[in-house]
Amino acid sequence: MRVILTPEIAPRLGLALFRPGSDVMALFHQGRVLIECVPEHLKHLPSGIVPAATQPLCDDKALLAFFTNARVIQAAGGLSTLKASLLRENGCQYPHGDYHHPEMVIMPYPPGSIRICWHCDNKLREQATELLADLAHRNVVEFVIASALRNLGFDDTHQLTLPELCWWAIRYDLVDCLPEGMARRALRMPQDVIPSVSRECDIVPDVPATSIIQEKVKPVFKLKVDPESPGTLMKRPKRIRLEKPTYLQWVKTQPCEGCGSPADDPHHLIGWGQGGMGTKAHDVLSIPLCRTCHTELHNDPVKFEQKHGSQPVMIIRVIDRACSLGVLA
Ligand SMILES: [Zn+2]
Ligand SMILES: [Zn+2]
Ligand SMILES: [Zn+2]
Repeated sequence: MRVILTPEIAPRLGLALFRPGSDVMALFHQGRVLIECVPEHLKHLPSGIVPAATQPLCDDKALLAFFTNARVIQAAGGLSTLKASLLRENGCQYPHGDYHHPEMVIMPYPPGSIRICWHCDNKLREQATELLADLAHRNVVEFVIASALRNLGFDDTHQLTLPELCWWAIRYDLVDCLPEGMARRALRMPQDVIPSVSRECDIVPDVPATSIIQEKVKPVFKLKVDPESPGTLMKRPKRIRLEKPTYLQWVKTQPCEGCGSPADDPHHLIGWGQGGMGTKAHDVLSIPLCRTCHTELHNDPVKFEQKHGSQPVMIIRVIDRACSLGVLA
């Protein structure tokens, strides 16, 4: 629960007094609370409990195919998590009927499930109606949105946007589940309209928005593992330097490992047995650095590592990020 309260300040006593009201009082019974300033986007709200944001994407019919895709539901936690989340709330979801039993059950209904009372369960079992389908869709859509919000580090007061939803899809490897219309809107491309009267020769083929996104998120390079490479069979193999220019390009786009500002260069590990004659470090052993930190490192590596941490630790961080994002796959 999040609450906006206006304090009454008694400066001479050094006290700030709040009158939370009975519905908010439970928050204070739990013990310690976190107090922070009201963020800009909530400033217009009156004092009291901060309501969950309405989610316009819920009502966006063009996104229904995405939300109800089995892989998307799976990425959001799967049907058992959907069921558990429905059971966390109470009340029969079937809007008709003059009587509802206090006990609830979860009725499976494609593409997910519906929470109904025992009475309605008896009445509706084995039925298929448009209303039930709408309820089941709604539950799945709300479930996926709630899961995306959580995964992206937002709470329920945040209104999920289409680009955020697409980013979530990318993170969970669901790019191929994005419907074309959704991808076009996220990329702010005009909707694809084929005029009703057109000669075939007038139709200019357009690059699908989904393939633009797929192209952008494809791994920068794939690692190949060869346990019996020719080198492993030689007595004195010649050192092969792993060169991956696309990886270096990606490293350059990362924040500087020294100071956190945007990097300018991919720096190859020096010292630690690397960076000498014929031992220039492999491209995977590179670190994003800004020009200032890069100069600082080359001027005095020991001093640099004392100040910013050791290069190998930085490399572990960069490789970890690359693997986690699928840049290295
Ligand atoms: Zn009922
Ligand atoms: Zn820097
Ligand atoms: Zn360097």
